[in-house]
Amino acid sequence: MSLLIVGSVAFDALETPFGKTGKILGGAGTFIALSTSYFCLKPNVISVVGGDFPKEYFDILEKRNIDISGIQIKKDEKTFFWYGKYHTNMNVRDTLITELNVLENFKPEIPASYQDTDFLILGNLSPVVQREVIEGLKKRPKLIAMDTMNFWMDIMWDELMKTISMVDILVINDDEARQMSREHSLVKASEKILKMGPKYLIIKKGEHGALLFGENKIFSTAALPMAEVFDPTGAGDTFLGGFMGHLSKQKDINFENMKSSVVMASVMASFCVEKFGTKKLENLEKNEIENRITKFKDLTHFKM
Ligand code: AMP
Repeated sequence: MSLLIVGSVAFDALETPFGKTGKILGGAGTFIALSTSYFCLKPNVISVVGGDFPKEYFDILEKRNIDISGIQIKKDEKTFFWYGKYHTNMNVRDTLITELNVLENFKPEIPASYQDTDFLILGNLSPVVQREVIEGLKKRPKLIAMDTMNFWMDIMWDELMKTISMVDILVINDDEARQMSREHSLVKASEKILKMGPKYLIIKKGEHGALLFGENKIFSTAALPMAEVFDPTGAGDTFLGGFMGHLSKQKDINFENMKSSVVMASVMASFCVEKFGTKKLENLEKNEIENRITKFKDLTHFKM
């Protein structure tokens, strides 16, 4: 199964109650790709970076067998930079700096070898860029999942609606679902959002887990209660990567298989928050993932 990811590959700088970083490897595309790499043999990435992007960061991706030939390098430009600061309640963060740099005029180019992709993940980017990738593929992938954020709802609503109508699964957080639907109840929000086009909707609720909607059904999963949450950056992207990575290995795409994929998504996200940036996702052992699945089963299993 081939899997294609479109998303930012970036420099992040972070401040959390536990410390501060300089510029480190980040970007939605990076977190998604690292997460899928535990399920998929060679995930492909479409993105763009500047001449300032160090080789050692490409090495991190290549070590996980991620194909980086779709990442354009604009030698004379600068890589996208995002600076986020978390409050003591780490569900709340402020974006202090967003420098679009190379992303400002990003025109995705799809290598010929990526054309017959089975699974497509559209990371949080302009809905116009997301759509250009869907339209740039000669054959529609079996499954398209998409992320977005309030920023695009504020400035590109119509474009966003066009792109949403073309995807199978929308994966957003609870605030975004409320803003998109103008409903407080997430059940009512899901009804409205599913009418916008996608067949399935996943609403992430941070440390409170996630909800999956579709086929007139609802599935709820917890998030693993963590003693140490060091840095939540990229947890949502890691969730999306884990979800699609796991789903891409199932025989059929249906609600049952999506349920286990949502659990796997939560498992992968639980690793992401344990260290700054991508550090924890760079070399996880298979048994670490398996142990956490067991923990998850124990956490949610009960007899009545
Ligand atoms: P998350 O914590 O899952 O919301 O994702 C955080 C990641 O998204 C960071 O690594 C940022 O580099 C990236 N990011 C933040 N804002 C944007 C944006 N406007 N476009 C693309 N990527 C972004």
